[in-house]
Amino acid sequence: FNTERYGQHILKNPSIAQDIVDKANLRPTDKVLEVGPGTGNLTVRILEKAKNCTAVEMDPRMAAELTKRVQGKAEQRKLEIIIGDFVKATLPYFDVCISNTPYQISSPLVFRLLSHRPLFRVAILMFQREFALRLTAQPGSSSWSRLSANVQLYAKVDHIMNVGKNNFRPPPDVESSVVRIVPIDPPPPVRFEEFDGLTRILFTRRNKTVHANFQAKGVFEMLEQNYKTWCAEQERMVEDGFNMKAKVKGILDELGVTESRPAKMDLNDFLRLLSTFHDNGIHFA
Ligand code: SAM
Repeated sequence: FNTERYGQHILKNPSIAQDIVDKANLRPTDKVLEVGPGTGNLTVRILEKAKNCTAVEMDPRMAAELTKRVQGKAEQRKLEIIIGDFVKATLPYFDVCISNTPYQISSPLVFRLLSHRPLFRVAILMFQREFALRLTAQPGSSSWSRLSANVQLYAKVDHIMNVGKNNFRPPPDVESSVVRIVPIDPPPPVRFEEFDGLTRILFTRRNKTVHANFQAKGVFEMLEQNYKTWCAEQERMVEDGFNMKAKVKGILDELGVTESRPAKMDLNDFLRLLSTFHDNGIHFA
């Protein structure tokens, strides 16, 4: 095992570890999921407050160290360790997720949590500062991105703490931040693949116009292909002389967003755009 590859930067500052766990407002009935417990600096604090904790750890040596740390203590029976890759592990039911994970799995972590059912109550997660800023970014700000829109569609995200690199051993190259993620419950009735398909196009060059982004290579071909599939499913004929370019332009003009720039558009703009496309049989996934 290689420290860098597995992102093993252990949180050494006990007051920050305590702060992170406190931010979750754990209840005695809570089942907690922790990803990448390492030597257990967060885990032991979680076990003090929660009903139980399932910790997914990829490195068996870390898992062994954590096992040793709780051995013979009352906390031992509250802890279950799954040795394996979080991305592939079968997740149990959980109310709360707390984690300081390697930053390589930031994106899969967030989307896996948000697609898990039933929905959790809150997640307190440590990320690389730049990633945290994109998660919490507002439209018009320099960090507003496809990630911001895709996550904020399903959750309220707050930046709650800056954590400097010297709080870790060994110190990582980047600064870190802790964020709180609260899923919107019930989630909006929008298929993620569709919304993501639209934001993928719009954020290719977020400072160009919406219209310009639709002209990128492959976009119309993809939309045409999806349109044909949709027509077939609806048992409809594709209209004679159907022109996807003209159709898209018509929709953008109708909504008044042809010259808008995704960098300044908000979630409602994207949702309105998506639902008008759908009303016209145009799909992104
Ligand atoms: N949570 C501990 C702390 O705060 O001190 C350790 C943090 S360290 C940044 C990340 C931990 O995640 C390491 O123990 C590493 O072995 C583990 N890890 C790395 N990739 C993982 C994955 N895909 N699934 C589960 N654990 C992983």
